[in-house]
Amino acid sequence: MSRVIIVSNRLPVVIPADAAKPLLGSAGGLGTSMKSVHEDGNSLWIGWSGLADVDLPEERQEALARMRYSTVQISSEEIRDYYDGISNSLIWPLFHYLIQQLPYDGQGWQTYRNINQRFADATVAQYQPGDLIWIHDYHLTLVPGMIREVIPDAQIGFFLHIPFPSSEVFRAFPWREEMLQGLLGADLVGFHTFDYSRHFASSLVRILGAEPEVDRVVHEGRTVHFGAFPISIDVTDFETRAASPAVQEMVQKMRNQQTERFLGLGVDRLDYTKGIPRRLLAVERFFDKYPEFRGQFRFLQIAVPTRETSAAYADFRSFVNELVGRINSKHGALNAAPVHLLYRSVDAIELSALYLAADLMMVTPLRDGMNLVAKEFVASRIDGLGMLMLSEFAGAAAELGEAVLVNPYDIESVADRIRDCLHMEDVERRGRMSLLARRIKQTDNKFWSKSFLSRLESISQERRVPFCSPESIQVQLTRTDFKQPMFLLDYDGTLVGIRDRPAMAVPDSELVDLIHQLSEKHANRLWIVSGRHRADLDAWFPNAIVNMIAEHGLWIRHQGTWSKTVEVDASWTEKLRPILASFAERTPGSQIEEKSASIAWHYRMADPELGPAQAKELRLHLLESFSNLPVQILNGKMCVEIRVQGVNKGITARQIMDRFPHDLLIAAGDDQTDEDLFKTLPPNALTIKIGNGMTTANFRLRSPAQMRTLLRTFV
Ligand code: UDP
Repeated sequence: MSRVIIVSNRLPVVIPADAAKPLLGSAGGLGTSMKSVHEDGNSLWIGWSGLADVDLPEERQEALARMRYSTVQISSEEIRDYYDGISNSLIWPLFHYLIQQLPYDGQGWQTYRNINQRFADATVAQYQPGDLIWIHDYHLTLVPGMIREVIPDAQIGFFLHIPFPSSEVFRAFPWREEMLQGLLGADLVGFHTFDYSRHFASSLVRILGAEPEVDRVVHEGRTVHFGAFPISIDVTDFETRAASPAVQEMVQKMRNQQTERFLGLGVDRLDYTKGIPRRLLAVERFFDKYPEFRGQFRFLQIAVPTRETSAAYADFRSFVNELVGRINSKHGALNAAPVHLLYRSVDAIELSALYLAADLMMVTPLRDGMNLVAKEFVASRIDGLGMLMLSEFAGAAAELGEAVLVNPYDIESVADRIRDCLHMEDVERRGRMSLLARRIKQTDNKFWSKSFLSRLESISQERRVPFCSPESIQVQLTRTDFKQPMFLLDYDGTLVGIRDRPAMAVPDSELVDLIHQLSEKHANRLWIVSGRHRADLDAWFPNAIVNMIAEHGLWIRHQGTWSKTVEVDASWTEKLRPILASFAERTPGSQIEEKSASIAWHYRMADPELGPAQAKELRLHLLESFSNLPVQILNGKMCVEIRVQGVNKGITARQIMDRFPHDLLIAAGDDQTDEDLFKTLPPNALTIKIGNGMTTANFRLRSPAQMRTLLRTFV
């Protein structure tokens, strides 16, 4: 694995201002999740020291360098604008859908820019070719683009640790274009959930007019990938701690001291996104509705201090305090308060003990990128008991479906769910908790970082295939001892150039001759592998000697007879047809094409401005409304094609390869559908990409003419 440069706002270390005091490791979600990457040894971590206006003494710098940390200096004035201002008063609430929290004076963008530039410069200064750069979070959204400008071929990943909001909300951000452009400097942009990734894609369409597919977009000639990589925790660490004597003793003590039958628990930073007031109101409502639980249920809220310098947070704290006071006056007794608020952090042992002692863990944020507390609770319940109540609006809900999911705004129903959880039969409780535990074990924090980095690395490899000549491929071939080459050749863009009108891409006589000669000489081993309808291919190559795969792999023609490779359920086309029809109606000159398991809308003949604009709307609509259908949306050339999943050129080519003996595979193609083919071929296959763009092929030719030159050498 290459060296990883981690770039984040803060270094995962607390540096006491007093130089005589030792450095301390800081907990914090990001620090813990990236720990395993940094501990692997081949990394450098760039971030702010946490000390504004302080020049670190040399010994400190050296100590940090030994830990492979490199600091970026920020002054307190800059922190006010970049960190407290833009990052935490603007991006944070907006991305959590709390538009009403936005300040009237959105000052500080220039400082945000400057600090981002400082992080980019610091990264460029440390960069060595081959490094993977991994930038983290909403403080540094412009850094990918700034690095890309200086190092065009750098391998850059970006991960957003908070939600990415719907494009309708994101568009309220004053510097929305600049932020998107900044993010698109990366090769891979990661989010916690598919929803966030989808929102990002919609924003690219609406704000930049880009044409994204589900997981990628071509931007300034580069393909930028994006997708969901749900962050997690060190599961083993929590399991081990929960089993430790220190924690077990503490749990016992807590239980002995507890006079109520049930303990409810909340653990959050005291942030307005965490839904603490509504959670408290739900507890109040629960006691109102079910008074038999008075004296039987106690709710403990750990409220970890956060952003204490901000006035908004101070006001929020008093509000929460008042609420707790009110509920306790209403439902408390002389010697017992039903709600207990602890405004402080707890250490790891206390935290594990609390997780284990709780009968009900209430994680009910109004919005949360992921929420690690939910996962920590599950990992800590080595006894298989307890119950997790989880907000639908936490990213974790996408993975933890066996929790009791609630809408935190529906206080009445949350109150009822508290009762359900406390009444739940142990069999059900254990069933739900064991499924949750199993799931988080499979995808822990190491899995998260590994899957992100290996994806980033493979994307970067895909990009590095230079143009070569047919002769150089030929030279390569002379070293291979083969007698039975098999050819898998895409048609449009590979054997003939791309035409404005699909019907004009008729093969010229030279091509027909070449294909006939090759088919004769290499019987059963020459296959045209196309996305076209079989009627087109039949018309162009009527001679039964030519074998072909049509409709991206759904049909094959061998010795002149067509057969279907798989039976697919294409009933979903019914749902899409009316939508495509309405676009065709509104866009003169455009038309629908239906194949056996796909449906396409072509706009080559439409008005050159209206066509692409409508295509953008259509893609957006499909991305937003039909992402649950078993289909793939392909961005063709002047066409939007929706085809069934589970059929592709690669799967069908495998059947052909298994059926007909060969000792060399030569595959060529020009677009995304051919990549499906390249990916399924064995490593020793000779794969050729025609033209620009990302590829996993091992050679790249400029044009169909060059491809034909190469093919002629096999006649
Ligand atoms: N946590 C902490 N101090 C405490 C209690 C909890 O540092 O006193 C940790 C908790 O274990 C978890 C993190 O803070 O790892 C909170 O992460 P989460 O994703 O739930 O929310 P965030 O604070 O990142 O918004």
